[in-house]
Amino acid sequence: MNAFTFERLSRPTEAASAVAARPGAMFLAGGTTLVDLMKVDVLTPDTVVDVRHLGLSSIDVSDRAITVGAAVTNSQLAWHPAVRDRFPVLSQAILSGATTQIRNMATVAGNILQRTRCSYFRDVHASCNRRQPGSGCDALDGFNRGHAVLGVSDHCIATHPSDMCVAMAVLDAEVHTVRADGTTRSIPFGEFHKAPGDTPHVEVALAHGELITHVVIPHLAAARRSHYLKVRDRASYEFALASAAVVLDLDGDTIRDARLGLGGVATKPWRAVEAEQILMGHKATDDAFRDAAEIALAGAVARDHNHFKIELAKRTIVRAFATARDANL
Ligand SMILES: Cc1cc2nc3c(=O)[nH]c(=O)nc-3n(C[C@H](O)[C@H](O)[C@H](O)COP(=O)(O)OP(=O)(O)OC[C@H]3O[C@@H](n4cnc5c(N)ncnc54)[C@H](O)[C@@H]3O)c2cc1C
Repeated sequence: MNAFTFERLSRPTEAASAVAARPGAMFLAGGTTLVDLMKVDVLTPDTVVDVRHLGLSSIDVSDRAITVGAAVTNSQLAWHPAVRDRFPVLSQAILSGATTQIRNMATVAGNILQRTRCSYFRDVHASCNRRQPGSGCDALDGFNRGHAVLGVSDHCIATHPSDMCVAMAVLDAEVHTVRADGTTRSIPFGEFHKAPGDTPHVEVALAHGELITHVVIPHLAAARRSHYLKVRDRASYEFALASAAVVLDLDGDTIRDARLGLGGVATKPWRAVEAEQILMGHKATDDAFRDAAEIALAGAVARDHNHFKIELAKRTIVRAFATARDANL
């Protein structure tokens, strides 16, 4: 691991200025992604700026929204009574990730900005356009069983690994930031992460030194009937092969509104909008959910080892919607 300078500041704009001033500086939150990647030389910051003492650790609940500070831990958010009550899908998504110990360290902003688990990205001896633009992609014809089938390009098929982000995508969360000059902005969740296209190294909508301050999750009455289903190789401490975050708004047995997000199968937290639309006005049957699943995966492109993910994702969608439908509220 390279030597680096550690800085701790007390105001968000000070932290943003400290990182913006140095091309080699990065923010450090819980360190569960960053320090891991520093140990294997994938990330080599010369300075890390601690963001856990900037007054960004509160969860504020109002009738209109839940506002979550960037440094709130994944555990605090998942177990918050208002989150468990209003947004079961978010609580379930977070609790399906990693381990208790990691969730106690990991923060909301860090989770949003976690990097792919693609083994070629994490191996500095492999070719990876995301890590080193223009170097190629060893995953395309390599061992790609865990890789994405949605949002892929000829330059990158790395899966976005977050569970929490899939739930935030269906809840239409907004990411709020501050820059070194004190200007702030709000980025809709769907615009925050970028599909790889020709520029896989451009992963998110942030500028260097732009600090996430908080995330706003708008109130959505229908989200009480929501569910996160994660399918993986083992029951704990494992990333998704396929996951579905669903919200179902029912009028009797008719679907008034539906939301669907996918994880484990896409290059960014995935929102299947066309699949959502086809459900509206239909009876909430398994057949209708299967029709939506077919649409959600219609654009899937598989490689040698990940064909199975397409059918797996469809079945995950059907089961997630059926579970939400059958919930006794
Ligand atoms: C063994 C293991 C298993 C895991 N399993 C899962 C899983 O199943 N599901 C899942 O979703 N996740 C999983 N994770 C990922 C974990 O959730 C993330 O590592 C964690 O959420 C990152 O948060 P952090 O606070 O530790 O971020 P850090 O590692 O501190 O930072 C991550 C990135 O975010 C940036 N950053 C942090 N805060 C800010 C801010 N306020 N503004 C701007 N940039 C910021 C940092 O510069 C860095 O680039 C796993 C991790 C490990 C190590």
